[in-house]
Amino acid sequence: MCPSSKNLFPSKGILMNISENAVVLFHYILTDENGVQLDSSTDTAPLAYVHGHKNIIPGLEKAMEGKTEGDTMKVTVPAADAYGEYQDHLVQEVPRKAFQGVEDMQTGMRFEAQTESGKVSVVVRDFTEETVTVDGNHPLAGKDLTFDVNIQTVREATEEELAHGHVHGPEGHQH
Ligand code: ZN
Repeated sequence: MCPSSKNLFPSKGILMNISENAVVLFHYILTDENGVQLDSSTDTAPLAYVHGHKNIIPGLEKAMEGKTEGDTMKVTVPAADAYGEYQDHLVQEVPRKAFQGVEDMQTGMRFEAQTESGKVSVVVRDFTEETVTVDGNHPLAGKDLTFDVNIQTVREATEEELAHGHVHGPEGHQH
C-alpha cells in the first residue's frame, strides 16, 4: 500500500462540522425574490458568528447546521424565518411637532424612536404640515431572502467568546 494513501486529511486535518458553539466565518451574497442583490460580504471580510446564539437570522442559522469549511450552498429563507413578516401596525402617523429641529423633512429619512420596547429605527414614508408617517419595520421585513453562502472557517469558540455570545479577534468583535 502506498503510504500517502493513508493520509486522508493531508492539509487541514479533520474538518469540524457546524454545531452549537462553533465559530463560523462565511461569505455571502444576498438577493431578493427578483434576484436583485441586496448585500454581499465578498468585497469585505467574511461574516463571523457563533452558531446557536441567534447571531444571524434563524432560517440561515438552521441551514448552516452540519456544514463545514469549504461548503457552498444556496438557501432561500422565507420572511418569517428571516426579518419577519411586514407588520402594518408598525406604520404610524405621529405629530410633526415630535420632529422639532428637523427643518428639511424628506421621505426616506431615518430616525431613532424611543418606544416602550426600547429604541427602534424608523423611516419616514410620508409627511404633511401636521403629521409624519413613520415605518418601524426592518428594511428587509416581508422579504424572502436568498443567500449564496461560501463557508470559509469553522472552529471552536473560546470560553470568552461563548460568555459574550459573539466572535472576538481579527475577524470579529474588538474589545
Ligand atoms: Zn465580546
